[in-house]
Amino acid sequence: MRVTERLAEIAAIAQHRAGYSPEEDAAHALAARWMRAAGLETRVDEAGNLHGRRGTPRVWAGSHLDSVPTAGRFDGALGVVAAIEAAERLPDAALGVVAFRAEETGPMGSRRLDELPPAFVELHIEQGPVLEGLGAPVGIVTGVAGQARGSAVFEGRADHAGTTPMEARADALVDAARFVLHVRKCARDGAVATVGVLELEPNAVNVVPARVTVSVDARAPKAEQLDALVEAIGFDVSWRLEPVEFSGAPRAVAPGAPELTSGAGHDAMVLAAAGVPTAMLFVRSLNGGVSHHPDELSSDEDIAVGIDVLTDALATLVA
Ligand SMILES: [Zn+2]
Repeated sequence: MRVTERLAEIAAIAQHRAGYSPEEDAAHALAARWMRAAGLETRVDEAGNLHGRRGTPRVWAGSHLDSVPTAGRFDGALGVVAAIEAAERLPDAALGVVAFRAEETGPMGSRRLDELPPAFVELHIEQGPVLEGLGAPVGIVTGVAGQARGSAVFEGRADHAGTTPMEARADALVDAARFVLHVRKCARDGAVATVGVLELEPNAVNVVPARVTVSVDARAPKAEQLDALVEAIGFDVSWRLEPVEFSGAPRAVAPGAPELTSGAGHDAMVLAAAGVPTAMLFVRSLNGGVSHHPDELSSDEDIAVGIDVLTDALATLVA
């Protein structure tokens, strides 16, 4: 399959194609060649994003070509190659294909567009195990989860680890440990919450912990759900990103496909937040959904289904 060959060509440039690096430039040069072969006129905007277009586009499709140091070959690249493939299959359609710059370190390129598309569709690998678990080749992404980050602090009293009887202690880490289990219990119905960092004072093997700061990362598909999750966990929020909802455009062309929320950010999130009617398709990730790792995998069969759905969705949006 040509798509698989093109993904291999991009991967052969380098595993790590950092945003605005010569490796990312080389991937953009390849994509520009493929765009022109598909009958698209190419242009590079001020942010370095690569655009291929035919006529006055009524919709754009695309993704990114940069990658993380430990990358596999599907994250981002599949969305660009699939969009070029769809453009080739719709030779008369007024559409645009875009390769955004530096998604993994921003997204940077999609935030600096000099014009917004009338509509946008991004095909991307799921980077998780949900579709594999459901036995479905593709899924419709209904939105990107909102996030709240912050911390909770537990105060106790520093005491000698040998001379202080157990019943006389005020151990801040024991309270923090209960809180970690509480955080886990609060996250349900599609919400997730994680404790990733503990800071202990005085952090010594022979002193009862006096003070513990516990980090919390909480995510939920809807704003009300995120509010409720933060409330239920009970922590001080220092940073928050609102959830983004996508339009249901591809639902009509893939009626049986399951719907899911993305826990990760994408270029599509940036466009939706800027007010562009945006849709997103996920292709099943195999190997348990592993991503940002060389074991990242989607099958040729699933990719073919994804490109069919993308092509039908674009044809519907152009018509
Ligand atoms: Zn990506």
